[in-house]
Order: sequence, then structure tokens, then C-alpha cells
Amino acid sequence: NVMSHRVSVGVIGATGMVGQNYIRLLDNHPWFEVAYVAASPRSAGKRYREAVVGRWHMNKDIPPKIGDLVVEDAGSVGSALGKCSVIFSAVDMDKGAVRQLEMDYASKGLAVVSNNSAHRQTEDVPILIPEINHEHCDIISSQRKHYGWSKGLIVVKPNCSIQSYMLPIHALMERGFRVARMIVTTLQGLSGAGYPGPSSLDVVDNIVPYIGGEEEKSEDEPRKVFGKGTGARIVPDESISISAHCTRVPVIDGHTACVSVEFAGAKPSPDEIKEIWRAYRSIPQELNLPSAPRQPIVVREEMDRPQPRKDRDAENGMAVVVGRLRPCKVFDDRFVGLSHNTIRGAAGGAILMAELLKEKGYIEEGARSTVQGAR
Ligand code: NAP
Repeated sequence: NVMSHRVSVGVIGATGMVGQNYIRLLDNHPWFEVAYVAASPRSAGKRYREAVVGRWHMNKDIPPKIGDLVVEDAGSVGSALGKCSVIFSAVDMDKGAVRQLEMDYASKGLAVVSNNSAHRQTEDVPILIPEINHEHCDIISSQRKHYGWSKGLIVVKPNCSIQSYMLPIHALMERGFRVARMIVTTLQGLSGAGYPGPSSLDVVDNIVPYIGGEEEKSEDEPRKVFGKGTGARIVPDESISISAHCTRVPVIDGHTACVSVEFAGAKPSPDEIKEIWRAYRSIPQELNLPSAPRQPIVVREEMDRPQPRKDRDAENGMAVVVGRLRPCKVFDDRFVGLSHNTIRGAAGGAILMAELLKEKGYIEEGARSTVQGAR
């Protein structure tokens, strides 16, 4: 057993749908310990368990230690100081306000790992999917120089709609098959809208063919994720064109994507594609990060899979499950991808990012407590 240094972390927006997933997923995490929870002034001053009365959605009880924590006002950045070295940001508020708030935490020396879209287009803030673009972390040193931060940083998670197709596409691109164009139709679960989400009268027995801003994010963010992190900014990969149609469906958790792909140049055979997907491993698996799915892409052979209820929890909700791979009559190939939107697409994906940052030496071991052989 080696000595393992725990890192104290905070969650802002801790009372929301994504925030609750952080609380659940970080319970008994081998490296991270929640020491600071914050939300809106409406919740501030209450114990966490009181702040979420009537809206705790997890299928596990509130960890007793977290239930006792007093919720702070996320806007009083100073109250995090000395309590934690990482801030998981899951606040839902005006974009400009989030951008400023996250800068404030970073300028105080905290590593901000965000689920919010506010900083996704900031040139020197990487949008990370650890399996795909772990090397974009390198831009943190120029970020720190630019803003004059010594220890602070900001990294962001992409929109939850894109995880269901990014890993399968990356696996193919990494093996030399360039994707030129994609048409994607997403069928997105209700929890992606936070609580309470759309009214039941809007969604039961229905499909809503519009999610504000989602199609633009689904089309633009992949280009930045696949981009080059050269110097002081990330240069998006403009060679890939995506046309996205995003819909809200009456599924609680799980975002499904129906994808048609056209390759530029060499085209892999269906058997080759499946073999590439099954063999796909990257840095999180090599580093054996605690939240890394051992099998990041799970291929299902049944004609009627993946399905949200049956497949979203694969690899603790961190895998992408693909199926229905077949030729496309307009492009080259088509498939269905599925991922858990509040786990891989939100809290779980961000915890994986923080684990990567710690492993790369960007996160201070707050070492508020040192425990024996926690892993
Ligand atoms: P949510 O359930 O509505 O929760 C919102 C959280 O923000 C609550 O903790 C709320 O605190 C807090 N908040 C609201 N106004 C605030 C203010 N003025 N100051 C400080 N805190 C404030 O939303 P969510 O679904 O968890 O989403 C949170 C963020 O993650 C959003 O930016 C969303 O776009 C993003 N996201 C969500 C998903 C998903 O699958 N749901 C996936 C990826 C990204 P109170 O409880 O005190 O009101």
C-alpha cells in the first residue's frame, strides 16, 4: 500500500442535476474528496441535505458527510479558499456571469473543471475528452501566462450530445480513416435539461424536435476537440463537416445519436470498423484513471441495440455503446451510438478530466488529509 494524497474538491451548482451526480460519483472516490458545496443564494446557508429536500434524484442516499456540509453562495469565491484545490462547475446561470465566476475561481488558484458552455469558445480553454485530446492540456501553461495565474486553470467539458459519436469517430480517425462529413440525429434524454426539465405535458407521448443552441454546439465543438493545440490557442479542425438535428425524447437518462459518416480517402470495411472500436484504448485506460471505462467503446451485435434503458450504464455509465453498423445509401456507413448524458456527458466525464489533470501534475494535492492506501 502506497501513501495516496487526497485532493479536496468543491462542487458549485452542487444542488442541481449535474451537481447531484458529482456528489454521488465522488462518494468514496479514491483521489477526490468533496469539501465545499455551493449553489445559488436560495440554497446558501442551508445544510446540503436541506437544500435538496424534495429534489434529490439519485438512486442512492446523500452521503452523510456531504449532507452535513453547509451550502455556500457560489458567488462568494473567497469561501472556497483553503477548502479545496479543484472546482467542478455545474451552475446554471447567465453565460457571461458563469464566464466571470469561473475566471474568479481560477484567478484565486483553483483548477476549474466546467460543465458549462460559457468558456467552450474561449481560445485558450481546452474542451477535453480525455481519450481524444489529452494533449490539449498543454495549453494550460499559456493560459496561466495569459491571465497571470500561478496555479489556477480552466478546462471545459463538451456538450453532452456529442459524446455518443465522438469516441467512435476518433477511433477511426486515429487509425488513418479521415471523416469528411457526418449527419447526426440525436435523441436526447430529459435529464439533460436539468430539473424539473420540460413539462410532462410537453414530453409524454411526444418528441420535441428542437433544443435551443444544441445543434450549433454539436456541429462546432467536435472541431475544437479534434483541433490542434498549438501555442496560445486551439486551432479547430475545419476539415470535418457535421449536420446535426437534436431532439428531446421521453427517456430519462441517455443520449442516442443516429450517425451517417462519409470518409475522405480510404474507407474501412464494417469488420475493420468493429475491430477498431473494440480495440480502442487511450491515455485514461493506459494511466488506469479511476473513472476510466476499461472498454471505452462497447460494440453490440444485436439488431435492436443500443437502447437507453439497457445500455446507458455500461462501464458505470462511462462507455459509449454502438450498434447497428451498416452501409449508408447516401454516405459510407451508419451506426447508432449511445452514452449516459449525466455521467459520461457531465459529472463522470468531468471527474475523468480532473483525474487526467492530476496525473499530468496540473492539480495540487491539496493534501488536506492523507490516507493510507486509498486505492
Ligand atoms: P440544474 O439542475 O438546473 O441545476 C442548476 C444549479 O445551478 C443548481 O445547483 C442551482 O442552485 C445553481 N444556480 C442557479 N442559479 C445560480 C446562481 N445565480 N448562482 C449560483 N448557482 C446558481 O442544471 P443542470 O442540469 O445540473 O446543469 C448545470 C450545468 O451543466 C448547465 O450549464 C448545463 O448546461 C450543464 N450540463 C448539463 C448536463 C445534463 O445532462 N443535465 C450535461 C452537460 C452539461 P439552486 O439549487 O440553489 O437553485
